[in-house]
Amino acid sequence: MLAILLALVGLLIGPLLGIVVDRAVERERPELNHRCRTCGTSLGSTSLIPVLSWFARCPTDRSHRNLRYPAVDILTAASFAVAGLRFGWTWQLGPYLLLFAVLVVMSVIDYETHLLLDILTWPSLGVGLFLVLVLSGVMGYEEGIWPALVGAIVYGVIMFLAYRAYPPGLGMGDAKLAPTLGLFLGWLSTTPMGAIRLVFYALIVAMLGAGLLGLALRMVRVNDKDAELPLGPALAMSAVLMIVVSDSILTGLA
Ligand SMILES: [Zn+2]
Repeated sequence: MLAILLALVGLLIGPLLGIVVDRAVERERPELNHRCRTCGTSLGSTSLIPVLSWFARCPTDRSHRNLRYPAVDILTAASFAVAGLRFGWTWQLGPYLLLFAVLVVMSVIDYETHLLLDILTWPSLGVGLFLVLVLSGVMGYEEGIWPALVGAIVYGVIMFLAYRAYPPGLGMGDAKLAPTLGLFLGWLSTTPMGAIRLVFYALIVAMLGAGLLGLALRMVRVNDKDAELPLGPALAMSAVLMIVVSDSILTGLA
């Protein structure tokens, strides 16, 4: 039930996240009113209907909207449902819903522009740190604070060193996203070793995922020089996956 409810909430939030994505991808001022990408005609409030709005064409030139709008809606709904299944009605649900929403936005922007924007990565880390410290204290989960910090530092350092060692392979943005992912991964563990284990699993899955995604993209978009490794989305997806299965990993079953 909770998963279905959250999927609906995700669908409703999707178009709003789409506006945030527009802001980054199209470099336009955010407004509660999407515009046609081809001719600039205002699409009215129907452009905020999740998923279905994609089927409505521009009244002026009949062009379809970018596929990323329904993609954002569906990704948000799916990730919210996953969070509901993973956490249920617990206090941890809220922070991880927030994380997943931010990851959807960052993944889609990264996919479109190959950029992870400082304006998203640094505040995410700041808000994440704040949530970890305050919520852990309020909810009596102090044993989760140290693993969260260890996760953030370990993932951040690894990605930064990887960036320094091989700049073409990944962007500085990936290194800035990593501490936030490590923070939320480590927060699920009560020991620093558990946090490190989650980070390493996430890293391995992200590398495999980026390789497979890159391969798939190259097959779809042949001769497209833009079809490079989508590391940002792969990092985000692997983190979500590891958050879902963290219990199995921490008990050594995975
Ligand atoms: Zn148009």
